[in-house]
Amino acid sequence: MPQFHPADSTDAYLAQIPPDVLQRAIDYTHGSHWLVLFSALVGILINVVVLRLRLLERWRARCERHGPRPWRTALLVSLVFYGLVWLLDLPWALYARWWREVRYGLSPQSAGAWLAESALSAVFSAVLLSVLLMLLYALMRRAPRTWWLWSGAVTSAMIIFIVVISPVVLEPVFNHYQPLAAGPQRAAIAAMAAEAGIPPQRILAYDGSKQSANYTANVAGMFGSARIAVSDALLNQAGTAELRAVVGHEIGHYVLHHALLQALLYSVLLTGAFLIVHLAYAPLARRLGVPQLARLADPAGLPLLAIIVTAVFLLLTPVTNGMGRYVENQADQYSLAHAREPDGMAIALLRTVDYRAPAPGALEEWLFYDHPSIARRIQRAVDWKRQPG
Ligand SMILES: [Zn+2]
Repeated sequence: MPQFHPADSTDAYLAQIPPDVLQRAIDYTHGSHWLVLFSALVGILINVVVLRLRLLERWRARCERHGPRPWRTALLVSLVFYGLVWLLDLPWALYARWWREVRYGLSPQSAGAWLAESALSAVFSAVLLSVLLMLLYALMRRAPRTWWLWSGAVTSAMIIFIVVISPVVLEPVFNHYQPLAAGPQRAAIAAMAAEAGIPPQRILAYDGSKQSANYTANVAGMFGSARIAVSDALLNQAGTAELRAVVGHEIGHYVLHHALLQALLYSVLLTGAFLIVHLAYAPLARRLGVPQLARLADPAGLPLLAIIVTAVFLLLTPVTNGMGRYVENQADQYSLAHAREPDGMAIALLRTVDYRAPAPGALEEWLFYDHPSIARRIQRAVDWKRQPG
Protein backbone atom coordinates (compact mmCIF):
# COMPACT_ATOMS: atom_id res chain seq x y z
CA MET A 1 0.00 0.00 0.00
CA PRO A 2 1.44 3.41 -0.96
CA GLN A 3 2.27 5.90 1.77
CA PHE A 4 0.40 9.19 1.37
CA HIS A 5 1.43 12.55 2.85
CA PRO A 6 -0.30 15.85 3.59
CA ALA A 7 -0.26 18.29 0.66
CA ASP A 8 -1.49 21.76 -0.17
CA SER A 9 -3.70 21.22 -3.19
CA THR A 10 -5.99 18.61 -4.67
CA ASP A 11 -3.61 18.08 -7.59
CA ALA A 12 -0.70 17.53 -5.22
CA TYR A 13 -2.74 14.92 -3.36
CA LEU A 14 -3.87 13.13 -6.52
CA ALA A 15 -0.30 13.14 -7.87
CA GLN A 16 0.67 10.82 -5.01
CA ILE A 17 -1.42 7.96 -6.46
CA PRO A 18 0.96 5.56 -8.27
CA PRO A 19 0.04 5.21 -11.99
CA ASP A 20 -0.63 1.45 -11.83
CA VAL A 21 -2.98 1.94 -8.85
CA LEU A 22 -4.77 4.70 -10.73
CA GLN A 23 -5.21 2.59 -13.89
CA ARG A 24 -6.55 -0.37 -11.90
CA ALA A 25 -9.00 1.95 -10.10
CA ILE A 26 -10.29 3.29 -13.41
CA ASP A 27 -10.72 -0.24 -14.83
CA TYR A 28 -12.49 -1.45 -11.73
CA THR A 29 -14.79 1.59 -11.54
CA HIS A 30 -15.79 1.44 -15.20
CA GLY A 31 -16.51 -2.27 -14.82
CA SER A 32 -18.69 -1.48 -11.81
CA HIS A 33 -20.80 0.94 -13.88
CA TRP A 34 -21.54 -1.87 -16.36
CA LEU A 35 -22.38 -4.19 -13.48
CA VAL A 36 -25.23 -1.86 -12.46
CA LEU A 37 -26.81 -2.39 -15.87
CA PHE A 38 -25.99 -6.08 -16.25
CA SER A 39 -27.14 -6.98 -12.73
CA ALA A 40 -30.54 -5.45 -13.49
CA LEU A 41 -30.72 -7.27 -16.83
CA VAL A 42 -29.73 -10.60 -15.27
CA GLY A 43 -32.39 -10.04 -12.60
CA ILE A 44 -35.06 -9.36 -15.22
CA LEU A 45 -34.02 -12.39 -17.27
CA ILE A 46 -34.22 -14.67 -14.22
CA ASN A 47 -37.73 -13.42 -13.49
CA VAL A 48 -38.80 -14.09 -17.07
CA VAL A 49 -37.45 -17.66 -16.79
CA VAL A 50 -39.34 -18.24 -13.51
CA LEU A 51 -42.52 -16.93 -15.19
CA ARG A 52 -42.19 -19.01 -18.34
CA LEU A 53 -41.49 -22.23 -16.43
CA ARG A 54 -44.65 -21.52 -14.36
CA LEU A 55 -42.76 -22.58 -11.24
CA LEU A 56 -44.62 -20.28 -8.87
CA GLU A 57 -48.02 -21.02 -10.41
CA ARG A 58 -47.54 -24.71 -9.61
CA TRP A 59 -46.29 -23.94 -6.13
CA ARG A 60 -49.18 -21.56 -5.44
CA ALA A 61 -51.66 -24.25 -6.56
CA ARG A 62 -50.01 -26.70 -4.17
CA CYS A 63 -50.23 -24.21 -1.30
CA GLU A 64 -53.95 -23.74 -1.94
CA ARG A 65 -54.87 -27.36 -2.45
CA HIS A 66 -56.92 -27.41 0.79
CA GLY A 67 -58.68 -24.13 0.06
CA PRO A 68 -57.56 -20.51 -0.12
CA ARG A 69 -55.38 -19.27 2.74
CA PRO A 70 -54.15 -16.03 1.23
CA TRP A 71 -51.77 -14.88 4.02
CA ARG A 72 -50.02 -18.24 4.23
CA THR A 73 -49.90 -18.62 0.45
CA ALA A 74 -48.36 -15.17 -0.04
CA LEU A 75 -45.69 -15.98 2.58
CA LEU A 76 -44.83 -19.41 1.16
CA VAL A 77 -44.81 -18.25 -2.48
CA SER A 78 -42.54 -15.33 -1.55
CA LEU A 79 -40.11 -17.63 0.30
CA VAL A 80 -39.86 -20.02 -2.65
CA PHE A 81 -39.56 -17.09 -5.07
CA TYR A 82 -36.64 -15.63 -3.13
CA GLY A 83 -34.92 -19.02 -2.95
CA LEU A 84 -35.33 -19.61 -6.70
CA VAL A 85 -34.05 -16.18 -7.66
CA TRP A 86 -31.11 -16.50 -5.28
CA LEU A 87 -30.11 -19.87 -6.78
CA LEU A 88 -30.49 -18.78 -10.40
CA ASP A 89 -28.56 -15.57 -9.71
CA LEU A 90 -25.75 -17.39 -7.89
CA PRO A 91 -23.36 -17.80 -10.86
CA TRP A 92 -23.67 -14.10 -11.66
CA ALA A 93 -23.31 -13.09 -8.00
CA LEU A 94 -20.26 -15.31 -7.70
CA TYR A 95 -18.67 -13.49 -10.63
CA ALA A 96 -19.76 -9.94 -9.79
CA ARG A 97 -19.47 -9.92 -6.01
CA TRP A 98 -16.77 -12.47 -5.24
CA TRP A 99 -14.48 -13.36 -8.16
CA ARG A 100 -14.19 -9.79 -9.40
CA GLU A 101 -13.41 -8.46 -5.90
CA VAL A 102 -10.74 -11.11 -5.41
CA ARG A 103 -9.25 -10.47 -8.84
CA TYR A 104 -8.83 -6.77 -8.04
CA GLY A 105 -7.30 -7.62 -4.68
CA LEU A 106 -10.19 -6.07 -2.74
CA SER A 107 -11.28 -9.20 -0.86
CA PRO A 108 -9.25 -11.98 0.74
CA GLN A 109 -12.26 -14.33 1.02
CA SER A 110 -12.27 -17.91 -0.28
CA ALA A 111 -15.20 -18.98 -2.50
CA GLY A 112 -16.44 -21.21 0.32
CA ALA A 113 -16.40 -18.44 2.91
CA TRP A 114 -18.15 -16.07 0.51
CA LEU A 115 -20.82 -18.66 -0.32
CA ALA A 116 -21.46 -19.43 3.34
CA GLU A 117 -21.94 -15.72 4.12
CA SER A 118 -24.06 -15.18 1.07
CA ALA A 119 -26.33 -18.12 1.95
CA LEU A 120 -26.68 -16.92 5.52
CA SER A 121 -27.60 -13.40 4.50
CA ALA A 122 -30.03 -14.85 1.91
CA VAL A 123 -31.86 -16.62 4.75
CA PHE A 124 -32.31 -13.33 6.61
CA SER A 125 -33.35 -11.50 3.45
CA ALA A 126 -35.79 -14.26 2.48
CA VAL A 127 -37.56 -14.10 5.84
CA LEU A 128 -37.72 -10.29 6.01
CA LEU A 129 -38.77 -9.88 2.37
CA SER A 130 -41.41 -12.61 2.60
CA VAL A 131 -43.00 -11.02 5.65
CA LEU A 132 -43.00 -7.68 3.81
CA LEU A 133 -44.56 -9.24 0.69
CA MET A 134 -47.18 -11.00 2.81
CA LEU A 135 -48.22 -7.55 4.08
CA LEU A 136 -48.16 -6.01 0.59
CA TYR A 137 -50.36 -8.78 -0.83
CA ALA A 138 -52.81 -8.31 2.04
CA LEU A 139 -52.95 -4.59 1.11
CA MET A 140 -53.53 -5.47 -2.55
CA ARG A 141 -56.49 -7.67 -1.58
CA ARG A 142 -58.04 -5.20 0.89
CA ALA A 143 -57.35 -1.95 -0.96
CA PRO A 144 -57.04 -2.88 -4.62
CA ARG A 145 -57.08 0.78 -5.77
CA THR A 146 -54.86 2.43 -3.16
CA TRP A 147 -52.54 -0.39 -2.01
CA TRP A 148 -49.55 1.29 -3.68
CA LEU A 149 -49.98 4.39 -1.52
CA TRP A 150 -49.83 2.37 1.75
CA SER A 151 -47.16 0.01 0.51
CA GLY A 152 -44.48 2.70 0.33
CA ALA A 153 -45.09 3.50 4.02
CA VAL A 154 -45.11 -0.19 5.04
CA THR A 155 -41.86 -0.78 3.16
CA SER A 156 -40.05 2.15 4.74
CA ALA A 157 -41.25 1.06 8.21
CA MET A 158 -39.62 -2.28 7.37
CA ILE A 159 -36.39 -0.54 6.30
CA ILE A 160 -36.27 1.38 9.60
CA PHE A 161 -36.98 -1.83 11.52
CA ILE A 162 -34.01 -3.51 9.79
CA VAL A 163 -31.72 -0.53 10.46
CA VAL A 164 -32.65 -0.62 14.16
CA ILE A 165 -32.29 -4.39 14.68
CA SER A 166 -29.29 -4.78 12.39
CA PRO A 167 -26.46 -3.94 14.83
CA VAL A 168 -28.05 -6.10 17.53
CA VAL A 169 -29.32 -9.09 15.53
CA LEU A 170 -27.76 -9.26 12.05
CA GLU A 171 -24.24 -7.87 12.12
CA PRO A 172 -22.90 -10.02 15.02
CA VAL A 173 -23.71 -13.10 12.90
CA PHE A 174 -21.19 -12.05 10.23
CA ASN A 175 -18.46 -10.34 12.24
CA HIS A 176 -17.02 -10.34 15.71
CA TYR A 177 -17.54 -7.06 17.57
CA GLN A 178 -15.84 -6.10 20.81
CA PRO A 179 -15.38 -2.82 22.68
CA LEU A 180 -12.34 -0.91 21.47
CA ALA A 181 -9.83 -1.19 24.33
CA ALA A 182 -8.95 2.02 26.14
CA GLY A 183 -5.81 3.50 24.62
CA PRO A 184 -4.61 6.20 22.23
CA GLN A 185 -7.00 5.12 19.42
CA ARG A 186 -10.08 5.20 21.61
CA ALA A 187 -8.92 8.43 23.23
CA ALA A 188 -8.58 9.98 19.75
CA ILE A 189 -12.29 9.50 19.00
CA ALA A 190 -13.98 9.36 22.41
CA ALA A 191 -14.55 13.12 22.76
CA MET A 192 -16.11 13.34 19.30
CA ALA A 193 -18.36 10.37 20.10
CA ALA A 194 -19.39 11.85 23.45
CA GLU A 195 -20.33 15.08 21.69
CA ALA A 196 -22.74 13.02 19.57
CA GLY A 197 -24.14 11.22 22.63
CA ILE A 198 -22.30 7.94 22.06
CA PRO A 199 -20.55 6.71 25.25
CA PRO A 200 -17.04 5.16 24.97
CA GLN A 201 -18.27 1.61 25.70
CA ARG A 202 -20.29 1.81 22.48
CA ILE A 203 -17.15 2.31 20.41
CA LEU A 204 -16.45 -1.16 18.98
CA ALA A 205 -13.79 -2.80 16.84
CA TYR A 206 -14.70 -5.58 14.40
CA ASP A 207 -12.84 -7.99 12.11
CA GLY A 208 -13.83 -6.27 8.86
CA SER A 209 -10.55 -7.25 7.19
CA LYS A 210 -11.84 -10.80 6.72
CA GLN A 211 -14.29 -9.51 4.07
CA SER A 212 -12.36 -6.61 2.64
CA ALA A 213 -9.29 -4.47 3.02
CA ASN A 214 -11.51 -1.36 2.78
CA TYR A 215 -10.67 1.39 5.13
CA THR A 216 -13.97 1.53 6.86
CA ALA A 217 -16.04 2.27 9.92
CA ASN A 218 -19.73 2.76 10.44
CA VAL A 219 -22.19 4.10 12.95
CA ALA A 220 -25.06 1.65 12.72
CA GLY A 221 -28.43 1.77 14.30
CA MET A 222 -30.85 4.47 15.27
CA PHE A 223 -32.29 5.68 18.51
CA GLY A 224 -30.86 3.60 21.43
CA SER A 225 -29.16 0.94 19.30
CA ALA A 226 -26.47 3.22 17.83
CA ARG A 227 -22.82 2.35 18.14
CA ILE A 228 -19.59 3.13 16.33
CA ALA A 229 -17.86 0.14 14.76
CA VAL A 230 -14.36 0.54 13.36
CA SER A 231 -12.89 -2.12 11.05
CA ASP A 232 -9.56 -3.63 12.08
CA ALA A 233 -8.38 -2.80 8.53
CA LEU A 234 -8.68 0.87 9.50
CA LEU A 235 -7.37 0.47 13.06
CA ASN A 236 -4.27 -1.40 11.93
CA GLN A 237 -3.25 0.89 9.09
CA ALA A 238 -4.49 4.41 9.75
CA GLY A 239 -2.72 7.18 11.58
CA THR A 240 -4.61 9.10 14.26
CA ALA A 241 -5.60 11.95 11.92
CA GLU A 242 -7.12 9.53 9.38
CA LEU A 243 -8.92 7.58 12.08
CA ARG A 244 -10.44 10.77 13.48
CA ALA A 245 -11.47 12.00 10.02
CA VAL A 246 -13.15 8.71 9.07
CA VAL A 247 -14.92 8.22 12.40
CA GLY A 248 -15.98 11.90 12.37
CA HIS A 249 -17.58 11.30 8.98
CA GLU A 250 -19.49 8.27 10.25
CA ILE A 251 -20.65 10.13 13.37
CA GLY A 252 -21.87 12.84 10.99
CA HIS A 253 -24.17 10.32 9.28
CA TYR A 254 -25.59 9.41 12.68
CA VAL A 255 -26.01 12.94 14.08
CA LEU A 256 -27.61 14.19 10.85
CA HIS A 257 -30.14 11.28 10.82
CA HIS A 258 -29.08 10.07 7.39
CA ALA A 259 -30.52 6.56 7.84
CA LEU A 260 -33.95 8.07 8.50
CA LEU A 261 -33.56 10.53 5.63
CA GLN A 262 -32.65 7.73 3.21
CA ALA A 263 -35.56 5.59 4.45
CA LEU A 264 -37.92 8.50 3.78
CA LEU A 265 -36.54 9.05 0.28
CA TYR A 266 -36.87 5.35 -0.51
CA SER A 267 -40.41 5.45 0.81
CA VAL A 268 -41.26 8.16 -1.73
CA LEU A 269 -39.48 6.35 -4.58
CA LEU A 270 -41.06 3.01 -3.67
CA THR A 271 -44.52 4.56 -3.58
CA GLY A 272 -43.88 5.81 -7.11
CA ALA A 273 -42.54 2.41 -8.18
CA PHE A 274 -45.61 0.67 -6.73
CA LEU A 275 -47.87 3.10 -8.59
CA ILE A 276 -46.11 2.07 -11.81
CA VAL A 277 -46.60 -1.58 -10.82
CA HIS A 278 -50.28 -0.82 -10.29
CA LEU A 279 -50.58 0.62 -13.80
CA ALA A 280 -48.21 -1.59 -15.79
CA TYR A 281 -48.73 -4.99 -14.20
CA ALA A 282 -51.63 -6.40 -16.22
CA PRO A 283 -50.34 -5.12 -19.61
CA LEU A 284 -46.91 -6.61 -18.85
CA ALA A 285 -48.48 -9.98 -17.96
CA ARG A 286 -50.15 -10.08 -21.38
CA ARG A 287 -47.01 -8.89 -23.13
CA LEU A 288 -44.88 -11.61 -21.56
CA GLY A 289 -47.40 -14.32 -22.51
CA VAL A 290 -48.72 -15.02 -19.02
CA PRO A 291 -52.24 -13.47 -19.15
CA GLN A 292 -53.41 -15.97 -16.50
CA LEU A 293 -51.30 -13.97 -14.02
CA ALA A 294 -52.85 -10.57 -14.83
CA ARG A 295 -54.52 -10.34 -11.41
CA LEU A 296 -52.10 -8.27 -9.31
CA ALA A 297 -53.07 -9.85 -5.96
CA ASP A 298 -51.95 -13.29 -7.18
CA PRO A 299 -48.52 -13.93 -5.57
CA ALA A 300 -47.60 -16.31 -8.39
CA GLY A 301 -47.16 -13.14 -10.45
CA LEU A 302 -44.40 -11.92 -8.13
CA PRO A 303 -41.76 -12.07 -10.93
CA LEU A 304 -43.79 -9.47 -12.88
CA LEU A 305 -43.74 -7.16 -9.88
CA ALA A 306 -40.01 -7.75 -9.47
CA ILE A 307 -39.33 -6.94 -13.13
CA ILE A 308 -41.14 -3.60 -12.90
CA VAL A 309 -39.51 -2.57 -9.62
CA THR A 310 -36.05 -3.58 -10.93
CA ALA A 311 -36.52 -1.55 -14.12
CA VAL A 312 -37.82 1.49 -12.23
CA PHE A 313 -34.89 1.48 -9.80
CA LEU A 314 -32.41 1.02 -12.62
CA LEU A 315 -33.79 4.20 -14.19
CA LEU A 316 -33.73 5.93 -10.80
CA THR A 317 -30.00 5.19 -10.32
CA PRO A 318 -29.01 8.87 -10.80
CA VAL A 319 -31.61 9.92 -8.21
CA THR A 320 -30.52 7.44 -5.53
CA ASN A 321 -26.86 8.21 -6.30
CA GLY A 322 -27.55 11.95 -6.05
CA MET A 323 -29.09 11.43 -2.63
CA GLY A 324 -26.03 9.38 -1.64
CA ARG A 325 -23.64 12.13 -2.75
CA TYR A 326 -25.65 14.72 -0.83
CA VAL A 327 -25.47 12.88 2.50
CA GLU A 328 -21.81 11.93 1.98
CA ASN A 329 -20.89 15.57 1.46
CA GLN A 330 -22.80 16.53 4.62
CA ALA A 331 -20.96 13.85 6.59
CA ASP A 332 -17.64 15.18 5.25
CA GLN A 333 -18.56 18.69 6.36
CA TYR A 334 -19.48 17.36 9.81
CA SER A 335 -16.12 15.59 10.04
CA LEU A 336 -14.21 18.71 8.99
CA ALA A 337 -16.04 20.82 11.56
CA HIS A 338 -15.75 18.34 14.46
CA ALA A 339 -12.65 16.21 13.82
CA ARG A 340 -10.82 19.14 12.19
CA GLU A 341 -8.53 16.80 10.28
CA PRO A 342 -8.53 17.91 6.61
CA ASP A 343 -5.20 16.18 5.90
CA GLY A 344 -6.34 13.01 7.64
CA MET A 345 -9.49 13.12 5.54
CA ALA A 346 -7.60 13.63 2.29
CA ILE A 347 -5.20 10.76 3.04
CA ALA A 348 -8.03 8.43 4.05
CA LEU A 349 -9.81 9.35 0.80
CA LEU A 350 -6.69 8.58 -1.24
CA ARG A 351 -6.76 5.07 0.23
CA THR A 352 -10.26 4.46 -1.16
CA VAL A 353 -8.81 4.85 -4.65
CA ASP A 354 -8.56 1.03 -4.78
CA TYR A 355 -12.25 0.78 -5.55
CA ARG A 356 -13.23 4.24 -6.78
CA ALA A 357 -11.55 6.13 -9.63
CA PRO A 358 -10.65 9.52 -8.15
CA ALA A 359 -11.52 12.02 -10.89
CA PRO A 360 -14.42 10.97 -13.14
CA GLY A 361 -16.07 13.23 -15.72
CA ALA A 362 -19.05 15.27 -14.50
CA LEU A 363 -21.63 13.13 -16.34
CA GLU A 364 -20.06 9.90 -15.13
CA GLU A 365 -20.10 11.15 -11.55
CA TRP A 366 -23.71 12.29 -11.84
CA LEU A 367 -24.88 8.96 -13.26
CA PHE A 368 -22.85 6.39 -11.36
CA TYR A 369 -21.18 7.78 -8.23
CA ASP A 370 -23.00 7.18 -4.95
CA HIS A 371 -20.24 9.13 -3.18
CA PRO A 372 -18.80 12.41 -4.50
CA SER A 373 -15.56 11.78 -6.37
CA ILE A 374 -12.35 11.69 -4.35
CA ALA A 375 -11.06 14.77 -6.21
CA ARG A 376 -14.16 16.76 -5.23
CA ARG A 377 -14.03 15.62 -1.60
CA ILE A 378 -10.31 16.39 -1.27
CA GLN A 379 -10.94 19.81 -2.84
CA ARG A 380 -13.50 20.55 -0.12
CA ALA A 381 -11.03 19.45 2.58
CA VAL A 382 -8.34 21.69 1.04
CA ASP A 383 -10.82 24.60 0.86
CA TRP A 384 -11.73 24.07 4.52
CA LYS A 385 -8.07 24.12 5.51
CA ARG A 386 -7.55 27.40 3.65
CA GLN A 387 -10.51 29.22 5.14
CA PRO A 388 -9.53 31.79 7.75
CA GLY A 389 -10.03 30.95 11.43
ZN1 LIG B 1 -20.34 8.09 4.41
